[in-house]
Amino acid sequence: MSETIFSKILRGEIPCHKVYEDELVFAFLDIGPLSRGHTLVIPKEPAATVDALSDDSAAAIGRVLPRLCRAVKAATGTEQYNVLVNNGPLAHQAVFHVHFHIIPKPDESAGLGVDWPTKPIDHADAKQLAAAIAAHAQAG
Ligand code: AMP
Repeated sequence: MSETIFSKILRGEIPCHKVYEDELVFAFLDIGPLSRGHTLVIPKEPAATVDALSDDSAAAIGRVLPRLCRAVKAATGTEQYNVLVNNGPLAHQAVFHVHFHIIPKPDESAGLGVDWPTKPIDHADAKQLAAAIAAHAQAG
């Protein structure tokens, strides 16, 4: 994976507002917050997207993510929030180092706005698709 601005943050070469660090995980405030308290949780491992994460890094993030969500809630006094990961440029990823956004949603006007254009599921396709995903998940 190529060098990103988050690699520089991890090496301490550029400043950040750090909120958490352990052996495998680092977290800091987003420099362009969608709302007050917008936090980024990243693995120290330089994986670009979630599917490229090692089991150890994934487990480390999973272990600490709820705690960081609680911390953001407590520090901002905001009850509701989004956790978001963008994977790939079409999916709005701009920095190609995995990052979990924790975005407080204090009111309608602040935080993440989501367009959610749902369509009815095609059950025939869904049956095949679920089986295919299940087989790939089983294979790892
Ligand atoms: P994404 O579109 O999911 O890749 O989001 C990248 C995020 O990284 C954006 O929300 C940026 O505001 C944030 N960001 C970029 N550079 C920095 C930085 N130096 N410190 C903190 N956050 C950053």
